[in-house]
Amino acid sequence: MMKITPVLTLILALGLVASCKTSAEGNMVDLVLVNGKVWTGDPGRPWAEAVAVRDGKIVMVGTAAEARRLSPSGTKLVDLGGSLVLPGFIDSHTHFLAGGFSLKSIQLRDAKDRQDFAGRIAAKARELGPGRWILNGEWDHQQLNPVEMPRKDWIDAVTPDNPVCVSRLDGHMVLANSLALRLAGVTKDTPVPPGGEIDRDAATGELTGILKDTAADLVFAGIPEPSFAEKLEAAEASIRHAAENGVTSVDEMADAASFEVFEELARLGRLTTRVHVYIPITEVGALARLKLKSPFGSPYLQIAGLKGFMDGSLGSATAYFFEPYTDDPKTFGLLHGQMFPEGVMERRILEADRAGLQLAIHAIGDRANSMLLDMYEKAVAANGPRDRRWRVEHAQHLRPADIIRFGKLGLVAAVQPYHVIDDGRWAEKKIGPERVKTTYAFESLRRAGAVLAFSSDWTVAPLSPILGIYAAVTRRTLDGKNPGGWVPEEKVPVEEAVRAYTVNGAWVQFAEAAKGSIERGKLADLVVLDRDIFTIPPEEIVRAKVRMTIFDGRIIYGKD
Ligand SMILES: [Zn+2]
Repeated sequence: MMKITPVLTLILALGLVASCKTSAEGNMVDLVLVNGKVWTGDPGRPWAEAVAVRDGKIVMVGTAAEARRLSPSGTKLVDLGGSLVLPGFIDSHTHFLAGGFSLKSIQLRDAKDRQDFAGRIAAKARELGPGRWILNGEWDHQQLNPVEMPRKDWIDAVTPDNPVCVSRLDGHMVLANSLALRLAGVTKDTPVPPGGEIDRDAATGELTGILKDTAADLVFAGIPEPSFAEKLEAAEASIRHAAENGVTSVDEMADAASFEVFEELARLGRLTTRVHVYIPITEVGALARLKLKSPFGSPYLQIAGLKGFMDGSLGSATAYFFEPYTDDPKTFGLLHGQMFPEGVMERRILEADRAGLQLAIHAIGDRANSMLLDMYEKAVAANGPRDRRWRVEHAQHLRPADIIRFGKLGLVAAVQPYHVIDDGRWAEKKIGPERVKTTYAFESLRRAGAVLAFSSDWTVAPLSPILGIYAAVTRRTLDGKNPGGWVPEEKVPVEEAVRAYTVNGAWVQFAEAAKGSIERGKLADLVVLDRDIFTIPPEEIVRAKVRMTIFDGRIIYGKD
């Protein structure tokens, strides 16, 4: 047994003083949350009552009595009154900087009909004044009554002096007005770029204003780049929005330019969302030459790896399938521009893998997914086994045999539950009853051994993990037509849905030692919800609210 000598007592006391001094307030802890229902994400100890935080880290997870012992007077003590505490949400696929711009742009997502759509654009043109571009919008033709594709003639008369290039919510098609097309030099004789489509009126052959995927780049090329100050402002809007939604980490599917914006905010100490940036796979050469192993950076901002595209989207009928679209038997969808020239995607995947870079590749149609799985398998065979944590973005429509391959390869299915309740309203019309059975097959993927990482794909869907969890657990479509769940076999248990927004998201970032669960030594990123989503009826999860968001041990949203 150790004998406590006076000298040892002194050393212990000094040690205690020293550890007190490390904290800003001079206390042993900075913040204590008590009287909560803490879901830790740690299978060894799934539930607790209290969490204590010091210097941005979790220092105690336990009972209220343990927490009180650690908190002398002066410590900030928050009584949660039984609220639920979760690890800060990790949204594994966002367009985070772009989202900030869209928060300030025209909102077309819920436009009701042609008149409403055109009226909103007219109002924005008046607000901005002549010469300014009208962008983003996130329109959804499935919301229009009647369902119809918007056309430039709806808006040309109200936008003679404003170029318009507004995107469908999936980002895979845009509506450009005549001025924007003229500025881009796009006419009815413009050749269609590979991986794109330029819509023409079936009767007259005239442009309708709809451009799909790479064809939209023809117009994007002429849009003036926002200033750095505007980008900073947009990024700060995104960060505020994340805090309101309990999101403390995001994976940003960006162009390389977004890195410097978040870097500036990190330097200023204003980055309260951890940003993990995937840059376009077309940059693989530059990244490989740097010999940089991903993830690279600080706990606030990292280069994560590379993002690529196999195909388009279901809503735009550009997702690439083995069989044609049910409602349009002439088309199988489109491979993305990054798939050309043939073989280039496979070469880039091999190069990225040799360089030790993580991959996140978009595949929606069953054929695009199958082709990607082939490429991943070949790369693994060529370069040997390694802890890769490769991702498939969306993994939306899968042949049953390919679901099994996801598990065998240990892939991350980076999926978006909100799309289930959104697209579930009309997906069957596009692909028929058979393919629908293995569409958004989250539970089958999970059971096959794939790692589910949940996300919003914001701005495609709202940046709200609560909505995402509700969608994954209930699969109740937005139109109220599937109260028992659309393809209900694929519902995910609440705990697995929460895990897919926390623990799994951290694992995908190779950051499981630092975050994703509430354990001693981990980053103090936490979210407090106003009700216990584990015990309320699943259909009520949608009404849960974020009460408080804690980032790096600081309350960044909500009141205690
Ligand atoms: Zn995306």
